[in-house]
Amino acid sequence: MNNFLITPIEFLKGVGPQRADLLKAEIGVYTFQGLLEYYPFRYVDRSEFQQVSNLAEHEGFAQLKGRIIGVMETGVGRSKRLTAKFQDDTGIIDLVWFKGARWIKSSLEANKDLMIYGRPKLFNGKWNIPHPEISDLNMNDLGGFQAVYSSTEKLTSRGLNSKGISKLVKVLLSDLNQPLEDLLSEKIRKEHRLINRTKAVELIHLPVNEQEAQQARFRLKFEELFFLQMELLVRKKITLNKSIGYVMSEVGDKFNSFYNDHLPFDLTGAQKRVLKEIRNDMRTGHHMNRLLQGDVGSGKTLVALLSMLLGIDNGFQGAIMAPTEILAIQHFESISQYMKPLNVEVALLTGSTKKKNRTVLHEKLLNGEIGILIGTHALLEDPVVFKNLGIVIIDEQHRFGVKQRARMWKKNKLPPHILIMTATPIPRTLAMTFYGDLDVSVIDELPPGRKPITTTHRLEASRLRVFGFIKEEVAKGRQVYIVYPLINESETLDFNNLMDGFEAITRSFPLPDYNVSIVHGKMKPADKEFEMNRFVKGETQIMVATTVIEVGVNVPNASVMIIESAERFGLSQLHQLRGRVGRGAEKSYCILMTGNKLGKESMKRMETMVRTNDGFEIAEVDLQIRGAGDLMGTQQSGELDLKIANLASDGQLVVLARDAAKKILMDDPSIEKVENSAIRTKLSAMLRSRPNWGNIS
Ligand code: ADP
Ligand code: MG
Repeated sequence: MNNFLITPIEFLKGVGPQRADLLKAEIGVYTFQGLLEYYPFRYVDRSEFQQVSNLAEHEGFAQLKGRIIGVMETGVGRSKRLTAKFQDDTGIIDLVWFKGARWIKSSLEANKDLMIYGRPKLFNGKWNIPHPEISDLNMNDLGGFQAVYSSTEKLTSRGLNSKGISKLVKVLLSDLNQPLEDLLSEKIRKEHRLINRTKAVELIHLPVNEQEAQQARFRLKFEELFFLQMELLVRKKITLNKSIGYVMSEVGDKFNSFYNDHLPFDLTGAQKRVLKEIRNDMRTGHHMNRLLQGDVGSGKTLVALLSMLLGIDNGFQGAIMAPTEILAIQHFESISQYMKPLNVEVALLTGSTKKKNRTVLHEKLLNGEIGILIGTHALLEDPVVFKNLGIVIIDEQHRFGVKQRARMWKKNKLPPHILIMTATPIPRTLAMTFYGDLDVSVIDELPPGRKPITTTHRLEASRLRVFGFIKEEVAKGRQVYIVYPLINESETLDFNNLMDGFEAITRSFPLPDYNVSIVHGKMKPADKEFEMNRFVKGETQIMVATTVIEVGVNVPNASVMIIESAERFGLSQLHQLRGRVGRGAEKSYCILMTGNKLGKESMKRMETMVRTNDGFEIAEVDLQIRGAGDLMGTQQSGELDLKIANLASDGQLVVLARDAAKKILMDDPSIEKVENSAIRTKLSAMLRSRPNWGNIS
């Protein structure tokens, strides 16, 4: 059987060397198995057609049958398009192509019975269908439910359009004279009502109705996600077994004293829960590798501090690594304050720490006088040696790579516990998958009494009013951010916009009453820090900046965030930027400035921002708009290599599959039962082929 499946595709009846080369190059089908796993992307039901005359009543996609009665090309350059008049028994509609006109024109045959499929659009009061799918209407097919495969121009020119591919699949399925090996045992199949693999592969290609297609999809998606989760769980177990960590079982004086007598407020329920999860990690003797997710302002720092106190109570030192000097300074200032009554010495180490101070600091780290060290990646450097480092907090994980993190592991005999804090909200099902062998804790609750930020969306025409509003706020003593997109800091146009904006602002807010700061990526780091600091100290009222300010800066007095060309930012970035305000006692505002014409997606982003402040809800919408791969970076999604499941839309199935995988591992931890032997084989192959999967960077 196995041999049959790995037969090269050229040996299939009707393929041959030339078509085989195309199948390989164009759609990555190399073997019989590859073709079986080349799943259709949708199905057509050839018994249901709409009519041109009542399209207005039909929502979404429409399927029509009729003939093309004329084709014309209009326009030049960018407004070039191809229009075909399509007629059915009830009327005429335009089919329109904005791209690929030449190829399409040559493939359109007049007066032949065709069926078309597409999404009708109302344009200037007339219906048309942009970029429809077109296929021959073969009377024999009528009434049938059929798979549609994606094809390419080259494949089509060799007769392998959707229908051609479908024919090959049929040949292959009829040659398949033994059942396919089922990787899921009967037990699992029964429990989750899954059809067997052979049936599923048959039905995904040749269902007679939507219900059968649905059954097949469910089974195949489940299988795919099951193995993905299985792999993650096994990897996690391997890491866990390998990684022995320091045991910190004591809850001692420092922790108790701070918790009972010096905590300025009660912890939220979520903070308490997360702290418990961390404490459980730290006392077990395993090496903690935990991701702490929490929306901006959810109080991650305090959780980090309490975790470090646990370490200190057990005779260890703690460290916090921040992505920028300014953040390190902010942490240093607030944590030093907190630690004063406890007699824990806190120190700051950044690139600009003077050599003389550095020498003293190195000594005090080595003899254990310093309890908590806070800094930038300067902490990674080799002369930074601790007496007994037990826990490392990494703030805003995405700025540090895996390699850098690994350097912290080497700062003691056993690797210190690691807590990575991030404000980037990631839907739970995704976090489960993408953060592989990290454990995830979530603070899903904001401290009480926060005033929600009012967000509005404004067009260019309202600019004067927006400026007026800035004036009012500044007059009240508040501070304002104005953020510009700068995709690539060398892009001249973006840069000029930023500078124009800066000039307009300085003209509207003249000295000596106002001071305006500007910060962008082309400036020297020292100059950036200097300007940022002026704003932090309140010496300047307005900060004009690019997204360099995105990460974690805390200026409680800033109450207005203006985002210029907001349509060019992604949702999570908009949300992060908005999180810079609303940190003080004052009511805060976020104003999204955009051009007049917005695409559907941009509109959705603006609406979402205006509607909600909830980072997780925003992440869900982002996931729907962009898809999972995009959200986590294409490289990672590419490695996932999912053929049918979709992490963005199959969230519930991810949870099901994960539970099923967990159950197997509980029941058969070493995967050695006979009923699980197929799982074992497949899994070892997966582990071999992706040795480093699950590392994040
Ligand atoms: P982030 O999670 O964005 O790092 P911070 O740790 O900076 O958030 O906390 C934001 C603000 O909320 C800080 O001023 C902090 O003192 C305050 N804070 C944290 N926890 C609580 C709480 N349980 N109740 C009230 N305020 C809190
Ligand atoms: Mg923070």
